[in-house]
This record gives sequence, structure tokens and C-alpha cells, in this order.
Amino acid sequence: MKTFSYVNATNEKEAVAALSPSTRDGHGDALAAARSGHQPSKVPIAGGMDLLGLMKDYIVSPDRVVSIKGLDQTIASGDGGLRIGAAVKIADLAEHAAARKMYPALVTAAEGVGTPQIRNMGTVGGNIMQRPRCWYFRNEEFNCLKKGGSRCFAVDGENQFHAIFGDGPCHIVHPSSLAVPVIAYGGRFRVAGPNGAREIDAGEFFQMPNANLYGENVLQPNEIVTHVILPAPGQRSASYEVRFKQSHDWPLAAASVNLVMSGSTVKSARIVMGAVAPIPWRVQAAERMLAGKTITEGVATDVANAAVAGARPMTGNQYKIQIARTAVKRAVLAAGRA
Ligand SMILES: Cc1cc2nc3c(=O)[nH]c(=O)nc-3n(C[C@H](O)[C@H](O)[C@H](O)COP(=O)(O)OP(=O)(O)OC[C@H]3O[C@@H](n4cnc5c(N)ncnc54)[C@H](O)[C@@H]3O)c2cc1C
Ligand code: SF4
Repeated sequence: MKTFSYVNATNEKEAVAALSPSTRDGHGDALAAARSGHQPSKVPIAGGMDLLGLMKDYIVSPDRVVSIKGLDQTIASGDGGLRIGAAVKIADLAEHAAARKMYPALVTAAEGVGTPQIRNMGTVGGNIMQRPRCWYFRNEEFNCLKKGGSRCFAVDGENQFHAIFGDGPCHIVHPSSLAVPVIAYGGRFRVAGPNGAREIDAGEFFQMPNANLYGENVLQPNEIVTHVILPAPGQRSASYEVRFKQSHDWPLAAASVNLVMSGSTVKSARIVMGAVAPIPWRVQAAERMLAGKTITEGVATDVANAAVAGARPMTGNQYKIQIARTAVKRAVLAAGRA
């Protein structure tokens, strides 16, 4: 691992200052670095579950690591919803009484992350911001498109866990299990940067590779996520994840469903799929099919078919279409029973 300096930021102001380019770096250093495909020289660390692996493998080699463990670690009520600090541990989110009652789709996703050890170290902000799992990206020997190279090795290579939506040019799937239900619930991210704080709709936060090849979201290198803000949920919601033999690995496909009900009829729905595209994949055509319906096995099947209708698998991941279809169907049925 490359030698680096360490700054322990005790609040968001200190964190942003420590992540911002100094005069010595030259103006706009961090932004220019990201745009040119090189990693920024200053990076935040929360639980370190992802970042330390990236550093040990020389995928990220910062000069300065800024600890943001001191950010808000509370979950507070407000405006009918919850405000979750970025430094909240995934395990604490999974066990939070109000979160369990109000946001079962999010808690199911939190409970499914990795192992108890990972959930006890990993934070909500770090989970949202974790980098892709593509094995070519994670291997320093492969200078792929995302690292400034000229080709995507997954296209002709091992792509069984890659995207079935999105059409490239990079075919990662977004790794965050929590981002999927956050979007289904219509959540927002509060972000702090040198010009103050702003809130970003979670559905607008993640970016496709054709908009941002070197990163996965709109965050600038000197900005941090400080909170996840969830509005009041619909009356019924659920997530369903399919994993390889129920291992601790990331899901092969996932779906979160959030339903606003009028009696036993769906008034409006949000359906988001995970692990199928470079961003959490919202399927509005499928959502519209649920409006005005009572949830039955047949309705759930039709909605699930609609959700995967536009899938374009790669050479080795055709099987993911059926898995994604199943995830959507079971999430819809589970929400219907909730
Ligand atoms: C075996 C294994 C299985 C796993 N399974 C799953 C799974 O099923 N689902 C899933 O979603 N995840 C899974 N994970 C990933 C794990 O959840 C993440 O690595 C962890 O949540 C990252 O959180 P952290 O606090 O440790 O982040 P860190 O490692 O500290 O940071 C991760 C990245 O985010 C940046 N960052 C951290 N916090 C912020 C912030 N507040 N604002 C801006 N940038 C920030 C860091 O610079 C870094 O690039 C698994 C991990 C392992 C090792
Ligand atoms: S999918 Fe993306 S990260 Fe993986 S090899 Fe292709 S360009 Fe690189």
C-alpha cells in the first residue's frame, strides 16, 4: 500500500476542508483528477470495509485519508420519515425499531449485507459510496475503461455477474444493497461540500457510465454524503434478494417495492431492481402496471415480466434475467402481504 497521511475529521466541516485541494495541489485538482480517470489524492474513510481493500490492491492510492467516522451516527425522526446519519453502522440500521417498522424493504437489505462483522464495521454512507465489484476493475493488472484504459474486459471475458441493462460502455452492476430501497422510498442524500450542504434525490444521484465513466455518482471528490433522508413510506413495502447459495456475497439480483395503497388497491408504486445495471434500476413501466390493481400472483407475474422486458444480457449472464424476474415478483408479493 502507498504511504499516506491520515486526518481524523471530527465534523463535516473539518472533513470537507481536509478533502479539498490545497494551494499546493493546484486549483480544481480533485475534480480534474476524477475527470481524467485518475483517483483523487484525498479520500474519505468510514468503516474502511471497501476502501482498505481498494488501497491494498493499488486501485486507489491516495496521499491523504480523511476519517469521517465522526459524522452523525444517529437515526432521527422528522417530517413523517427518518434521517439517517451517514456514519450509522449497517447493523444499527438493521436493528433500529422505527426503521424496522417504517422501512422493511431497507431493513431487509441491511440485514442481507455481507456478514455480521461487515455490518458492524460498514456504514450507511460507505455502503452507498462503495466502488464496483467487477473483478477486472479490482485487479491492477487490468487497465480497463473505468481506470482510463481503452477496453472493457468484461465484454469478451467473465461477465456472469455483470449488467443485463445499460448497454455499457462499462458493464458494472451497482454494488449497494441499501441504495435500491432508498430509491424505492423516494429518499434523498444530504451532501456537504466547500459551498455548503445540498440535498440530492437518490434517483438522480447515481450516474450511468456514459455520463460518468470513472465514478458512479454525482458527488465531487471534495464532497461527502452526510445523511440519507427518507420521506414517509407507502403503506406496504418489501425487498427480495437472490444470492448464490445464500452466501455472504453480494446479491445476484434484488428488487425493492414501495406501495401507496387505497384500501387493498395499489394507488401508486415504486419498483427498483438491484445488481442488474450500473445504477439501481427503476422500472417505471412496471410501476404503472400496478396502479389500480389488487396484488395477485398473476399481477405480480405480469409486473415482473414487464420489469425485465428491456434486458440485454451479455455472453455469460442470460440467467440473471430469470433471477431478476423472480426477485421482482417475490418483492411485489411480499409487499402485498406486508
Ligand atoms: C464479503 C463482503 C460481502 C459484502 N456484501 C455486501 C452486500 O451484500 N451488499 C452490499 O451492499 N454491500 C456488501 N458489501 C460491501 C460493504 O457493505 C461495504 O464495503 C461497506 O458498507 C462499506 O462501508 P464502509 O463504511 O466500510 O466504507 P469505506 O470502505 O470506508 O468507504 C467506501 C467508499 O466510500 C467512500 N465513502 C465512505 N463514506 C462516505 C461518505 N459518507 N461520503 C462520501 N464518500 C464516502 C470512501 O472513500 C470509499 O471510496 C460486502 C463486503 C464484503 C467484504
Ligand atoms: S465492466 Fe467496467 S469496471 Fe469492469 S472491466 Fe468493464 S469497464 Fe472495467
